[in-house]
Amino acid sequence: MSADLHVFSLPLTNRFRGITVREGLVFEGAGGWGEWSPFLDYDVPEIEPWLRCAEEAAAGDWPTPLRVSVPVNATVPAVGPERAHEIVNRSGCATAKVKVADPGQSLADDIARVEAVRDALGPAGKVRIDVNALWTVDEALAAIGVLDRAAGGLEYVEQPCATVEELAEVRRKVDVPIAADESIRRATDPYRVRDLEAADVAVLKVQPLGGVRACLQIAEDIGLPCAVSSALESSVGMAAGIALAAALPELPYACGLGTVSMFTGDTAAVSLLPTGGALPVLPASPAPDRLVAEPALRATPERDAFWRERLADVLAYRESLR
Ligand SMILES: [Mg+2]
Repeated sequence: MSADLHVFSLPLTNRFRGITVREGLVFEGAGGWGEWSPFLDYDVPEIEPWLRCAEEAAAGDWPTPLRVSVPVNATVPAVGPERAHEIVNRSGCATAKVKVADPGQSLADDIARVEAVRDALGPAGKVRIDVNALWTVDEALAAIGVLDRAAGGLEYVEQPCATVEELAEVRRKVDVPIAADESIRRATDPYRVRDLEAADVAVLKVQPLGGVRACLQIAEDIGLPCAVSSALESSVGMAAGIALAAALPELPYACGLGTVSMFTGDTAAVSLLPTGGALPVLPASPAPDRLVAEPALRATPERDAFWRERLADVLAYRESLR
């Protein structure tokens, strides 16, 4: 691993997955920079592929892009209809992902939000909903048809229930396409989703699945349309997700890669934020110039030590597999 390694701690605008800062590390290799930022609740065997993604980026080993920019979706949290309308209008995106099934809210709240988003996008826009595994099968069957009508047609429903078996059952009983997101956490998961016919769309994230080339191979193997999404990387890591979206032979869905705006700081001097609903494709990750210049974005000595130790644990785990 390179001597040039920095641990970052970027404040989030809103609490997400129970965290208020996003931590990870960036390091330089022969071909550029890579970001390694596995979520804190993932164990050592699970976070090894995340490191392969960072190493691939640092080696400068991305496949040839087929596009110069990639479309991204706006994300609408569980807000009221006026705010939802405003978020979509401001985004410049033609596709919006609407969070539904928030524990504090009713189906009527979800209907009002989805209607507002359709109104903001106009008839040509695409509306997808993300349930984050919060419905039972019965709740999914009751809600999907209603929300499909409220949206004037849904592009897809992302992770309506928790398990792959439940996704398969819902998929057999509704006409709206189903996307698997949380069900794809390890590289073997997309194959299980395919084998159980649990989804019409596979959501691919480069870090958990082991990098850009690994994701391309998965996409080819499973033969399902893929949507590319982030794991809340900073701009250094986001470039890898964009590289995947740029290299996929087919890119039928706007990508969930417009998430750098969730931070109040960034690793790169120029953040990878969408303009006009799209992100530029870069030949390599941007350098972490801003992180180097602003000590406030770096982790405390304690957290710095935690991340270096976590990295050492993964490298030791890898050795143990030899
Ligand atoms: Mg999701």
